[in-house]
Amino acid sequence: MSDIEKDEKKISRRDIFGLGSAAVAAATLTMAVEKTAEAQQQASHAAPNESNRGPQNRPLAAENPDSEWPPPTDSGTVKPFKYPFALARKRVLSGGWTRQVTVRELPISTTLAGVEMRLTAGGIRELHWHVEAEWAIMLNGSARITAVDHDGKSFVSDVGEGDLWLFPPGVPHSIQGLGPDGCRFLLVFDDGNFDEFHTFLITDWLAHTPREVLAKNFSVSESTFDAVPKKELFIFQADLPGDLHAEQTEAAKGTGTVPKRFDFKASAMKPTKVTRGGEVKIIDSKTFPVTPISAAIVTLKPGALRELHWHPNADEWQYYITGKGRMSVFVGATTARTMDFEEGDVGYVPISNPHYIENTGDSDLVFIEMFRTSEYQDISLAEWMAHTPHLLMNQHLGVTTSMLDSIPKQEAVVTPL
Ligand code: MN
Ligand code: MN
Repeated sequence: MSDIEKDEKKISRRDIFGLGSAAVAAATLTMAVEKTAEAQQQASHAAPNESNRGPQNRPLAAENPDSEWPPPTDSGTVKPFKYPFALARKRVLSGGWTRQVTVRELPISTTLAGVEMRLTAGGIRELHWHVEAEWAIMLNGSARITAVDHDGKSFVSDVGEGDLWLFPPGVPHSIQGLGPDGCRFLLVFDDGNFDEFHTFLITDWLAHTPREVLAKNFSVSESTFDAVPKKELFIFQADLPGDLHAEQTEAAKGTGTVPKRFDFKASAMKPTKVTRGGEVKIIDSKTFPVTPISAAIVTLKPGALRELHWHPNADEWQYYITGKGRMSVFVGATTARTMDFEEGDVGYVPISNPHYIENTGDSDLVFIEMFRTSEYQDISLAEWMAHTPHLLMNQHLGVTTSMLDSIPKQEAVVTPL
């Protein structure tokens, strides 16, 4: 058996847990299944003679097989790097709902925070701003977004499924669900300490400004502001917005529109890389000039792998859109942990900590990688091995020079190629 063949023999969790259809899917990607000694050792935990007495949270254990019976390569204590949005408190209002996963829910996630939001058709996330930059991806439906920059230049646009937007720090903005059924989207902020419930809201500000000052500011009577709500609206139901072109024209009068668009049609973008295992779209300031936050939207077919790699310039914040997968993170000093992910889960990997993501389900796994840096960067194990003197690599790992010769010179990102 060649070294390459040995490398391709993977321990199959599907085999261990008897998930036949997923194993078939994996086989289509020529990922051979073999029970190694380690796999047999792991399987013995779940053997019929293991009575597994005592309390068990069965649904949670079933969702987290790599916590229930970790692979033998896991070792030591790693800070938890997963938090499901399903555990976050949902704030429900007329017009929609929202919930957040920040450093308070997931203490390791210091650089970025996330918010899920649903707006009904006509539902408005109130005009507001915040200190942090806001990156977003539309997950379902469509919305009208508005913003005004420091030169009074306006931005009004409609965004659909798969599209992104970026509101720079301090820029006031709004989001409104469109017909027929509003929208669902994910927001990502460039500070783990962000709090969606503590932003600067236009109603809240005006309610806390003396009425005579408001009158003086606009040279109007105090009664002009009689209808300003005493309490924030935050998210509220309203009628649908007007014609897009008419609203754009109205907002741009006298100053024009922002010089760099605040939206990006990622749904229409060609993938950055396509392999047999799936595809990736990388969106950073090279393609979306206004963004200080970079992203990779990754699709893995059943059994495929987001290859072993790390990011030298930023922590990674992840959101799982659909499918099931697992990720192992090696944190150094013999310490590593594997956790399982599915739709709506947040994952987090500190800067330069190596990791992989494997599709463990029987459908596509789609997730996004987010970074608090305008330039996307990664270093893959395969690329490192391919571009290091092969004798030196052989002296470390014992792998043959013919195996090293066969590694593609460009990183795969998603395997198999
Ligand atoms: Mn916002
Ligand atoms: Mn990564």
